[in-house]
Amino acid sequence: MKNFFKIENFSCGYRTGFKIENVNFSIHKGSFAGIIGPNGSGKSTLFKGVTQELKAHKGSILLNNINISNMSYKEKARNIAIVTQKINAEAITAYEYVLMGRIPHKKHLNFFESKYDHAIAQKYMEMTDTWRMRNKYMNELSGGEQQLVSIARALTQEPQLLLLDEPTSYLDITHQVQVLNLIQKLNDELGLTVLMIIHDLNLASEYCDYLIMMKNGTQYTQGTPNEIVNYENIEAVYDTVVITKTNPLSNNPVVFLVSQKTLDSLK
Ligand code: ADP
Ligand code: MG
Repeated sequence: MKNFFKIENFSCGYRTGFKIENVNFSIHKGSFAGIIGPNGSGKSTLFKGVTQELKAHKGSILLNNINISNMSYKEKARNIAIVTQKINAEAITAYEYVLMGRIPHKKHLNFFESKYDHAIAQKYMEMTDTWRMRNKYMNELSGGEQQLVSIARALTQEPQLLLLDEPTSYLDITHQVQVLNLIQKLNDELGLTVLMIIHDLNLASEYCDYLIMMKNGTQYTQGTPNEIVNYENIEAVYDTVVITKTNPLSNNPVVFLVSQKTLDSLK
């Protein structure tokens, strides 16, 4: 479906100054979309607008043509799950943390988790390779382990749309690729629509089918990795000299950074 998730003329921000403005994009059902852009360009702020942690100043956010501001908290959480950069690592076990993802699915006055809730929690903990840490307290886990557990929790919400804010930022390359392969598999096999903030341009280019590039609080450009990841756009947005080539196996663009010394030696 076209326009499955649509952000129209959206603006939100902080009382102290920064705001995002005129944000416009839409993604198809089943896509794996990425948001790229330099630090401070407003990527996480946009997600706070989607979760309504920040109030919209203007514009709207539509999921399946329904304005999310008209959805109840539970309805929203059944449709959209978010994995944020900072995890509130309370003194609860990883298993309890993941099981909390089922809260939006609970019926009124039904305080206990069902067998199904437990089965779902186990399934996604196994899938994210976190089942073995189920009895550890969240604050005993490393940043990378917490990221994996919080992905498991988001999946137990069984959302239609999964938002991820830099899910690989604490991970080494083995775990980066493992997590992105997992998200790709969920996208392929469950048809889960993914919108992920990712600052690594090469990973964005390799995994995402659509990219939104942010600059100074608005989208600078958007399109497929082949349309977006080129030296003109990157130099304009990041103010950094780069070379781009094509990955010989996947045919996706790859970005190379060049040191000042190398640039000087070419003069
Ligand atoms: P990104 O995720 O693209 O790196 P953010 O959306 O987190 O950027 O931040 C954009 C701008 O908003 C930054 O200049 C940042 O300092 C500011 N900002 C972020 N969080 C807050 C906050 N809670 N209060 C005020 N300003 C904030
Ligand atoms: Mg951010």
